[in-house]
Amino acid sequence: MSTDKIHQTARIYALQNAIQFEGKANSKAVIGKVIAALQKERVSPKDVIPVVNIVVKEVNVLSLEKQIAELKKLAPELLKKEKKERDFSLPELPDAKKGKVVTRFPPEPNGYLHIGHAKAAIVDYEYAKMYDGKFILRFDDTNPENAQLEFYDAQKEDLRWLGIKWDEEYNTSDHLETHYKLAEQLIKQGDAYVCKCPPDAVKDGRFHGKECDCRAVSNEKNLDLWKDMISSSVEGAILRLRGDMKCANTAMRDPTLFRIIDKPHPRHGDKYRVWPTYDFAGAVEDSLSGVTHPFRTKEYELRDECYFRLLELLKLRKPHLMEFARLSIEGMPVSKRKIKPLIDKKLVSGYDDIRLPTLRGLAKRGIIPEAIKQFVISQGISKTESSAAFSLVEAFNRKLVDPIAKRYFFVGYPMKLVVKNAPKQKKSIPLHPTDKNLGSRTIKTDSTFFIPKADMDKLSVGDIFRLKDLYNVKITKKNKEIFGEYAGEELIADSAKLQWTTDNFMKMIVFVPGLLFEKDEYNPNSLEKLVGYAEEAVSSIKSGEIVQFERFGFVRIENNKNKITGFFAHK
Ligand SMILES: [Zn+2]
Repeated sequence: MSTDKIHQTARIYALQNAIQFEGKANSKAVIGKVIAALQKERVSPKDVIPVVNIVVKEVNVLSLEKQIAELKKLAPELLKKEKKERDFSLPELPDAKKGKVVTRFPPEPNGYLHIGHAKAAIVDYEYAKMYDGKFILRFDDTNPENAQLEFYDAQKEDLRWLGIKWDEEYNTSDHLETHYKLAEQLIKQGDAYVCKCPPDAVKDGRFHGKECDCRAVSNEKNLDLWKDMISSSVEGAILRLRGDMKCANTAMRDPTLFRIIDKPHPRHGDKYRVWPTYDFAGAVEDSLSGVTHPFRTKEYELRDECYFRLLELLKLRKPHLMEFARLSIEGMPVSKRKIKPLIDKKLVSGYDDIRLPTLRGLAKRGIIPEAIKQFVISQGISKTESSAAFSLVEAFNRKLVDPIAKRYFFVGYPMKLVVKNAPKQKKSIPLHPTDKNLGSRTIKTDSTFFIPKADMDKLSVGDIFRLKDLYNVKITKKNKEIFGEYAGEELIADSAKLQWTTDNFMKMIVFVPGLLFEKDEYNPNSLEKLVGYAEEAVSSIKSGEIVQFERFGFVRIENNKNKITGFFAHK
């Protein structure tokens, strides 16, 4: 096996890895790839590791542009693969032309955005980008009972956090006059009628496929009734599409297009009382705003017929309606019906509780937007309903934060350890195992330490363990505190390695989330409040930074006037 071959292979994979991680390759990852690539030639790790370590250092000082240029020369096929994995793996859209694709994200401003919304927003946005098209943010705020003023801005904040930018923004409620005109057109054509039957009778008629008497009223009379609905002199009436009461698709049994809601609208006050349903507003807005590829979730599939019928009757352009399965995560429900009672009972702290899959909850526990994007795209846009495990989100996040998160010492449920004959040490310990640019800190040790109780429970008097990166200690006495004596620096095979902090520690709480729901029931043990000691340097971490507490996990730090709190993201 020639050293040249190893060197060349290492160079290629170091470049590929660096391009994948914003210009910084990780030796461990590269070593694995090189060994796998040279498997047939029976290369030994001993030969590979020193070469890779040198090559990675060389590659990491190059700019990202230079790395891409070099990989393009050495192994263009890897660059292409890399780019595809990295930028996009959504399938092509049907009938899509560059520069002509228009997508939209239409949230109802009635709450904070969650992972399900993130899927829709990301897919819509990424497709617009993929085709150099336009992306519209549309607030579907035509139900005054749901829309709340605070959520227009809150949802925009959530989208910005996700890294989503929109080219155009508007509120469906601002187009009500247009909707009224189109409703009038349908009535004049005989395609819609005012129904004054009580809601139960409407439901019953739909179920049994029975027409009501309102259907027989003339177009002129219907137009008068419609005007009465708008001008307040009629109660409890709805405008219905003249569909087919015998249709096998019950969604076509004269669906409701407009209804009276006597509640002030957060943006329009008492100006309107007749509001379009989702069936009407969704179809009309998609068409009029120029959307070419609107996505919606699969549960609307039966309503597609109504969507296209309406556009046909109104002689409006028909977009290419697309459907995908709703995205859900096991044990993390998104419905308000489930979450609201828990908030009211103070069982969760709010919509940003770290056990919730709201974007605010995910952000708080240290999940970064890029991880959500990669997770969403990895789930694809098929129509197959499935529930993903949160560990998938964690895996994407870990891959992204591992190369950039600083490492610190933290001990949960600490126990005091006093070491006899302990050498005083002053150690400079790097903040990251591979990226030296992240710097280091100095830790001074004397004879007092704190170690995790859980680890100590497994050890007995006479055992020798190692204080990680320091030296060995032999246990001489165990009660509420541990006593031991210095037992040399030499590594002993199979001895336990324990995380530690000195007596110069900072007490802090780390909130560790578990699954909020187990077997569809609220899990009362879903949040652990773990008290621990962190090394002193943690006090200077800025709020919002995600770090790794070694042998514990990735934690997002909040630092409020030197009161430090941690939120556990994942191992
Ligand atoms: Zn009726």
